[in-house]
Amino acid sequence: MKLILAIDVGGTFTKLGLVSIEGEIISGRLFKTGARQPFNEFKKKLSEEIEQLRTTTTKTYTIQGVGIGAPNANYKTGEMINPPNFSWGQRVPVKKMVQQLLNFPVYMTNDANAAALGELYFGAGKNMKNFVVLTLGTGLGSGIINEGRLIYGQHGMAGELGHVNVFSEGRQCNCGLKGCLETYASVTGIKRTVYELFADSNAESLLRSVSYEDLTGKNISEAANEGDIIALKAFEYTAQILGGKMADTVAHLEPEAFILTGGLSQAGDLFLKPLKKYMEAALFNTYKNKVEIVLSKSTSTEAVLGPAALALVGLKLK
Ligand SMILES: [Zn+2]
Repeated sequence: MKLILAIDVGGTFTKLGLVSIEGEIISGRLFKTGARQPFNEFKKKLSEEIEQLRTTTTKTYTIQGVGIGAPNANYKTGEMINPPNFSWGQRVPVKKMVQQLLNFPVYMTNDANAAALGELYFGAGKNMKNFVVLTLGTGLGSGIINEGRLIYGQHGMAGELGHVNVFSEGRQCNCGLKGCLETYASVTGIKRTVYELFADSNAESLLRSVSYEDLTGKNISEAANEGDIIALKAFEYTAQILGGKMADTVAHLEPEAFILTGGLSQAGDLFLKPLKKYMEAALFNTYKNKVEIVLSKSTSTEAVLGPAALALVGLKLK
């Protein structure tokens, strides 16, 4: 059986999987990334976990190649470039490290690009050729599929919609710029909005007693579902900003759909309905009522399907 070794490096957990060409996860493992520990520690742990994965998989198989998805990873250089929340340095040579560990072809790209390929071959984008994946988690990641191919750009960093500008003197972003989309349209962004609304309004809210640290996308959606005015306003404002920027993206690419994933997307209709409304309102006439907004169906254990798809494309098996 021909399999891909897929590695999804996250800020908290790293997931490993042996994945078939059809996208079946034959076996998997999960371990703490240790993003704040030295990179060498990660290397040691990764090598042990891969060994465990390979020895505990009972089926007979051959590994064809390795796919890696990681935050801020560059497809062309094989490095993670200034990954926020990691203490591994400014240019982290992850691809080279994995190549030294394993004697297989290795492919790497950023996590949102990998997710877009996962959707294209195994997920909600299976029957589409033109779509944009938005990962709405701690930050906002994006991957663009055009005519059935992932867009990399000249230097391997295309599709950073999280850092398009919303307000020129807006919120401070981790990247050094001000007013980036991800400071509004992400789980962190909606938390900042909730706190802004607290300051501007006297309205009672279930969320006022929750500390900023304890505030999550989940408890904001729960409050909104109970009719909490602040929570509802926070979703409305987030949808207004993101919907406007999605309309801009439509003008650039004319996709058939946006596929949403990540913590903020789990709010479902609460977020999707206003998002659709604001996107439609901002669309150029010819694009109106043609672009769908859908939710990704893939679960967190299926995060390895993205990097697996990346390697399959690289090996020309897809
Ligand atoms: Zn930014």
